[in-house]
Amino acid sequence: MNSVAAGDRRAAVVIEDDLDIRNLLCAVLEQGGFAASGAATGREGVDAVRQEHPAVVTLDIGLPDIDGYEVLRRIRTTSDCYVIVLSGRTDEMDVLTALQAGADDYVLKPFRPRELRARIDAMLRRPRIGQPVAPPATVTPGPSGGTAPAPAATTGPPPDAADLLRNGNLVLDGEARTATCSGVELPLTKTEFNLLHELLRSNGAVRTKEELVRVSRGREYRGYNFVSRTDERAIEVHIANLRQKLARTSGDPDLITTVRGVGFRIMPRSSTSR
Ligand code: CA
Repeated sequence: MNSVAAGDRRAAVVIEDDLDIRNLLCAVLEQGGFAASGAATGREGVDAVRQEHPAVVTLDIGLPDIDGYEVLRRIRTTSDCYVIVLSGRTDEMDVLTALQAGADDYVLKPFRPRELRARIDAMLRRPRIGQPVAPPATVTPGPSGGTAPAPAATTGPPPDAADLLRNGNLVLDGEARTATCSGVELPLTKTEFNLLHELLRSNGAVRTKEELVRVSRGREYRGYNFVSRTDERAIEVHIANLRQKLARTSGDPDLITTVRGVGFRIMPRSSTSR
């Protein structure tokens, strides 16, 4: 891991040209335990990300020099940090474009500091997917015949093999947070990884878009449970990106199947196929 200049605190970078909003965002992040630094332009922001190795970046779309989408593309060439886009526009297309460019989440302005905190907390709580955070209380008696990977063995899972999920030539390592296909690593964002992990874990069962929204927010998301149409569209975009990456690497564009009007699932493939 990168050691962060500012002591033990994780770094955060706020890219925002409005001074008042920038100060507010920095204050919210500092309260959340981050060493936050602000950048007033896109270029400054890209430089700050390269220097600080932040865990979290908040990114305004409307910036004076280069726009937020371009900033995001530049950030993504060097960092897989969590990026929250702040958009002042109500057009959902802005949000979707940002998600396509690799953002993890978005908040519309004007925002409530509490909501932003909740989103950041949730994002940071979900990193170690292999070590299950309290399994969901709802027990769905799905058609899990046979060898579903028991998601949460509370009696202490074996340290290594428990975090590996396989489907055909695809292998996800929850501990290392890597996904490989026939040995080739897939360049996934954190959100894409989390969604793919959840679909694989479900072993062929359908996951609704609403469930996947919650997965992308993190299991322990509290206080902001409303799932909007835009949230669901965001999941569709993440899944489309995932499919493209899977198709490029594995030549298997149909691995993630759409269940119309419901959600998505992954078709189990045998490891000997191909
Ligand atoms: Ca702005």
